[in-house]
Amino acid sequence: MKVIKNNAKRDMYTTQVKCTGRGNDYINELLEKKPCGSILRINTNNIRPIVHIGDINSYWAFTCPCCGATTDLQDDELPLVYSQTKKKVAKKQPEFQNDEDEIER
Ligand SMILES: [Zn+2]
Repeated sequence: MKVIKNNAKRDMYTTQVKCTGRGNDYINELLEKKPCGSILRINTNNIRPIVHIGDINSYWAFTCPCCGATTDLQDDELPLVYSQTKKKVAKKQPEFQNDEDEIER
């Protein structure tokens, strides 16, 4: 069987996203990249971690091949494999917190 068009926005390793420049206004302006609004099908190889100045959180982002602008992905836009990874990390987290408590005492 061959899938010609899959209407699902995302699956395990790919996701459909729009080039909006979300979260990256500063760097896109600095590099003179104007988000073009293209709809893209990207996969895990196109997604990289990114941090923003003055923000302790890290995000997942992609760079548009049409215009070169960078856009942050929201949690519900990430390929499903990312949410599975996050669940595993969340399960492990209490162990780390216990270790830290013991060190502080
Ligand atoms: Zn673009």
